[in-house]
Amino acid sequence: MDISQILKETFGYDEFRPGQREIIESIISGQDSLVIMPTGGGKSICFQLPALYFSHITLVVSPLIALMKDQVQSLKQLGVSAEAYNSSMSPDDLTRIEEMAMDGKLKLLYVSPEKISNPEFNAFLKRIKISLIAIDEAHCVSMWGNDFRPDYIKLGGLREEYSQVPFVALTATADPATQDDIIVQLKLKNAKKSVSSFERKNIILSCLPGQNRMEHIRHFLKNKENQSGIIYCISRKGTENLSNSLRSLGYNAASYHAGMNTEDRNTVQEQFINDEIQIICATIAFGMGIDKSNIRWVIHYNMPKNIESYYQEIGRSGRDGMVAETMMFYSFVDMEMIKDFALNSEHGSQQFIDMQIAKIDRMWECANTFDCRTNVILNYFGEYRSTGCGHCDNCIHPPASFDGSKYAQMALSALIRCNESINIGLLIDVLRGSRRKEILDHNFHEIKTFGIGRERGPIEWKAFITQMINQGFIRIDYTDHSRLKLTPLSKDMLNGQASIKLVEIAIKPKKVPALAKIKASEIVAEGNIDQVLINTLKAWRKEEAVKQKVPPYVILHDATIQNIVAAMPKSEAEFEQISGMGKLRIQNYGHKILELINNN
Ligand code: ADP
Ligand code: MG
Ligand code: ZN
Repeated sequence: MDISQILKETFGYDEFRPGQREIIESIISGQDSLVIMPTGGGKSICFQLPALYFSHITLVVSPLIALMKDQVQSLKQLGVSAEAYNSSMSPDDLTRIEEMAMDGKLKLLYVSPEKISNPEFNAFLKRIKISLIAIDEAHCVSMWGNDFRPDYIKLGGLREEYSQVPFVALTATADPATQDDIIVQLKLKNAKKSVSSFERKNIILSCLPGQNRMEHIRHFLKNKENQSGIIYCISRKGTENLSNSLRSLGYNAASYHAGMNTEDRNTVQEQFINDEIQIICATIAFGMGIDKSNIRWVIHYNMPKNIESYYQEIGRSGRDGMVAETMMFYSFVDMEMIKDFALNSEHGSQQFIDMQIAKIDRMWECANTFDCRTNVILNYFGEYRSTGCGHCDNCIHPPASFDGSKYAQMALSALIRCNESINIGLLIDVLRGSRRKEILDHNFHEIKTFGIGRERGPIEWKAFITQMINQGFIRIDYTDHSRLKLTPLSKDMLNGQASIKLVEIAIKPKKVPALAKIKASEIVAEGNIDQVLINTLKAWRKEEAVKQKVPPYVILHDATIQNIVAAMPKSEAEFEQISGMGKLRIQNYGHKILELINNN
């Protein structure tokens, strides 16, 4: 069978996503491959489809039981014979799986890297025929990567043992140095490297100064009833406070952090996966092991510590290709806090600490830019581009700038008159003429520029001064209690030899960006869609999921439900035109879905 046909009949998709066809063809031709594709890009099909094409077993190495489980459940929905082999299973199950494998009844076998180095498992492997070996989350093999796992290193030995079997290594997070290291560590032969664009076209990016966070969040959550989302916070306490506030406002929210016991954490995670909890307020520990495809939004309550983490965390939304919205708050307080973490980290060499600090600065630039945010991120990952993405806040609502030299001069002369001994908060108070104690103690109320900037509110001033800092007209001295200092450019500004463009910031919540502007092949128009029918189908999906003990999105993706409601099929045959409905889904659910449509 040809690969397009397998894609349509088994997976239910009409077209390959960018890169998939070439990768699959090269694997089938027997070549080793390294696949770098963003989260949600569709890496799994790159080895799952060849697995169906080949006669024997495809062995998949995956770092987490939850990830294996998710893929196995999804494959079973498609009628593909797949199993995970891990320590959480009973001896009976393991024997059954071994027998299936030896009888040639298994297409995909998922294992952990630890299992691979186990001698008994190795002996079992010797007795089965293997067509392909896939190493998922392959960045774990590299010390340069984000989540190094020593057991992954041993996979290089596997390459030598199975010299005739093609290998494919896949990951979403690998800069060029890590990519080369993966090839070396896994001993891949003439590996064909396929690096897709990191851009996630269906994710809307936006960043906001961290004032009125709760008000912004409430505005953001309007029209998002029952849409799963994650709010990342910097601290455990932060997750608890936030989830308490959200619950008291009537939201279905829970917190998740490393201080909770394993059982509670698993329960919360399961409930989120099964659409029983809508919102998780989490520290970064959450999300790594879940492939939930219908996470519709992500908020960063605090600024993340680097662009890698930020992109990985927002990347957990919109895996199904449908529009996902994200919002990140940033503030100097956040930045100082994460810089403190970096400076006080016990393990780092000076070089390591310097690198962490540099990464925080890049994150800060990304948060503060008035240019395309996607471009800042892509440039960071070495994918140079300058045309706007069309799906970040700055592209959707380009900020209007004005000549802010007047404000810059006010701020600088106040700073000079206070002897460069004040931090940003105090400078704002001086400019606005506050008579709080600290000001009176230092006689700042007697300086000439006291109160000169009353026409602007504190939030506006904070944004302006931040922009001045980012454009080099003022600097923050972190070695001196974060006091503000002059820079070589300050003098030019005061002499009238330089000017600065400032941007007004949104104090009140912004309008949600127009979804219609976002184009991705699998996104259907949101306009006139029958929301009642969508809810009906989701309710049925939930029941079915409980019955089958799998997450709802494994039964049908959100995108598939949207497609069904947009197409309104009248017969089982018409389901064949709907993306996401393969043969087995039509056979199993087509009848029931038609009934629900007709009764609607
Ligand atoms: P990754 O491993 O790269 O993060 P997945 O393999 O989990 O991504 O795929 C993300 C989602 O995209 C899955 O829900 C998958 O079914 C879907 N998908 C993959 N390929 C296609 C395609 N060609 N057409 C439509 N959807 C696809
Ligand atoms: Mg994956
Ligand atoms: Zn953009």
